[in-house]
Amino acid sequence: MTALQDLLVQRIRQQGPIRLDDYVQTCLLHPEHGYYSTRDPLGAAGDFTTAPEISQMFGELLGLALGQAWLDQGAPAPFTLAELGPGRGTLMADLWRATARVPGFHAAANVCLLEASPALRASQARLLQELSPAWIDHAEDLPARPLFLVANEFFDALPIRQFQRAGDAWRERHVGLAEDSLQLGLGPATPQPALDHRLPDTKEGDVVEDAPALAPIAATIGARIRDHGGAALIVDYGDWRSLGDTLQALKDHKPVDPLATPGQADLTAHVDFEALAQAAPCTHTRLTGQGVFLERLGITQRAQNLAKGLTGKAREAHVAAHRRLTHPAEMGTLFKVLGLYPEDAPSPPGLEP
Ligand code: SAH
Repeated sequence: MTALQDLLVQRIRQQGPIRLDDYVQTCLLHPEHGYYSTRDPLGAAGDFTTAPEISQMFGELLGLALGQAWLDQGAPAPFTLAELGPGRGTLMADLWRATARVPGFHAAANVCLLEASPALRASQARLLQELSPAWIDHAEDLPARPLFLVANEFFDALPIRQFQRAGDAWRERHVGLAEDSLQLGLGPATPQPALDHRLPDTKEGDVVEDAPALAPIAATIGARIRDHGGAALIVDYGDWRSLGDTLQALKDHKPVDPLATPGQADLTAHVDFEALAQAAPCTHTRLTGQGVFLERLGITQRAQNLAKGLTGKAREAHVAAHRRLTHPAEMGTLFKVLGLYPEDAPSPPGLEP
């Protein structure tokens, strides 16, 4: 039994079953044994890979879109250039390089990173040294000024609760014990006013999810954008409202049981973009597939230019990366992009009002 498993079993023995969001939070961010606290999980040698790690084109195009949105709003200075959950810092590094030619952008930008993991903060500090970033612990720490923000695969890491429909009430799914191993169980049926909007589109036994940390973060970002201007590009897997159990654990690039190896597998869930858009008190774009979004921003042309300098294996890998980011059978439609922007500004490039 791992140290974290032991700790969870002891806790449940003392207190009874715990909420799923409590379990996920502990697995991901326990200060000593948490998945993100202790390691860099990204890349081929890690447990999963992400769009910025697949190709530099991803960060470059997001950077140019954000740079254009900044110009469209009159190039406000100074402004906050923020990223939520920057991982290794790859997206921000590519974004920064690509925006070097947006006049005044670098000089006006104060880079701000929301990151919970000390191990990943250290990677970001190494890669982003020349940007002199400031790290924050909470979205509310974002300064009261124009905010241009990116987030890739951040919201899917926020802990979720799950509720199973029982009549017009809901039974919450808990993590309890069967002998000495962790097991999912169901709490008593209780009314959940926050889930009233899910009564018309669910039936007996259906599972719905809620990430309690999502709405407060979206509300803060949206308020900065409404009050001071700016734009947010939020990329993640999920949909406009989700249905069913989407909790997923990945270890060595393979799915595993989310309860089997606490603290040693990445845990994510589909993002409910409807909840995100509704919590943000500014305007939002249509939810758009990552493939379509990147095509509109010119990924094919960028890919062709980069291919000119490549031969052999490197060229094959580059072509495969382009396909992986955009093709509907790969990340092109599963991953979606939502833009947030002020009511009186044009929608960010690549996205429709
Ligand atoms: N955006 C990066 C990394 C995605 S992994 C990429 O695309 O490669 C998720 C990131 O969010 C990690 O950096 C993780 O440490 C961070 N993270 C997860 N939960 C967090 C939380 N509650 N607060 C702040 N950062 C968090």
